[in-house]
Amino acid sequence: MSKIKLKPCPFCGGEVIMMRSESLETGFVSYYVSHNDPFNCAYEIRQQSASRTIQEAANKWNRRADNG
Ligand SMILES: [Zn+2]
Repeated sequence: MSKIKLKPCPFCGGEVIMMRSESLETGFVSYYVSHNDPFNCAYEIRQQSASRTIQEAANKWNRRADNG
């Protein structure tokens, strides 16, 4: 599995990591970017990057980070 580069949070500059979420009811899997340490920053990035694939979530996040 290739490593996906994630840009740091544009809000706090903190490190972010890729998370996986699976619904027990529907089996629906989604991926999103989240802070390594969520208590350092109030910026709600999870909702900005939620996607069905890791690559898509990473693309969304990195675009977001570019725009500030
Ligand atoms: Zn942040």
